[in-house]
Amino acid sequence: AKREKIGIVGSGFIGRSWAMLFASVGYEVCLYDIKQEQVPDAINEIKKQLHELESSNLLRGNISVAEQIKCIRGVTNLKDCVVGSKHVQECVFEDVDLKKEVFKKLDELVGPNTVLSSSTSCIIPSLISPDLVHKENFIVSHPINPPYHVPLVEIVPAPWTRKDVVARTRALMAEIGQSPVVFTREHPGFGVNRLQYAILNECNHLVRSGVVTAEDVDTIMKDGLGMRYAWMGPLETALLNANGMKDYLERYADTIKNISETLEGKASWDYKDCGDLVSQLDEMVPLDKLQNRREWRDKRLAALGKLKRDA
Ligand code: NAD
Repeated sequence: AKREKIGIVGSGFIGRSWAMLFASVGYEVCLYDIKQEQVPDAINEIKKQLHELESSNLLRGNISVAEQIKCIRGVTNLKDCVVGSKHVQECVFEDVDLKKEVFKKLDELVGPNTVLSSSTSCIIPSLISPDLVHKENFIVSHPINPPYHVPLVEIVPAPWTRKDVVARTRALMAEIGQSPVVFTREHPGFGVNRLQYAILNECNHLVRSGVVTAEDVDTIMKDGLGMRYAWMGPLETALLNANGMKDYLERYADTIKNISETLEGKASWDYKDCGDLVSQLDEMVPLDKLQNRREWRDKRLAALGKLKRDA
């Protein structure tokens, strides 16, 4: 073990994933939850998962499963979780007031060398951290579900976050085998959700206008664009479709502009306006099959993650 401590606040889905990732390279991980009785269950669940990952040859990190398990312990109070930690990763519910309250407590417990990091998906960092004494140490590290198999972490500083805190966080994420992207400044939706919502708007228009079915929209992504996007982004995809980016622009600029003029932009996401979309999707994945489908997704993402790591 490294004898360097990481505090994880919140033992739900994301907290458990972070605990496994930090332990995979030997950090001493302390896991805390306001629901104390949930922590031993979380630790047992982690142990079970790590053994399963090992037997499917999907275990991450550079130490044995037994050593990884030894690195993670549950604690019953916030102080034991965070005092002396080099990095605290907050993973409580997505609620700005709750997060402010949790960081206020953390702020009182930690010293100046602890990075205070939030897993928030959508709350911009300046909304959580403006009143903290250690606000220069505050940052967002947004993972993607499920983080153990999908490596991207969006690192988003508040306007007052120190440069060395950004650099340290990026280095830590790379060290645990994640793929960090650093934002120069905060921006609503960061990157993932901006791109995701641009795509969802167009999916919504395509289905509701009746041009294609919901199932076909998903086939367009998963058997078309998604095949390439698993390995390279849309920009590299574009330049490889021509002889470099300048050539791509020369060839396709007019086409892109003309088709873009027909895009409708933001859709109405009111439930009452989405009737057909909802009923088509309910048929595609019936509500009683959601859990099966999630398990299938995670298995396939695990296999893809390994394929990419080994490539
Ligand atoms: P979750 O509901 O599974 O877990 C939240 C945990 O926080 C619960 O165990 C709860 O008891 C605990 N908690 C609540 N208040 C607390 C407090 N004051 N102190 C300590 N623990 C407290 O949620 P999750 O899916 O793990 O999400 C956690 C965070 O990660 C959210 O901000 C979410 O937006 C973000 N996130 C989630 C996903 C995802 O897909 N699940 C992806 C990326 C980021």
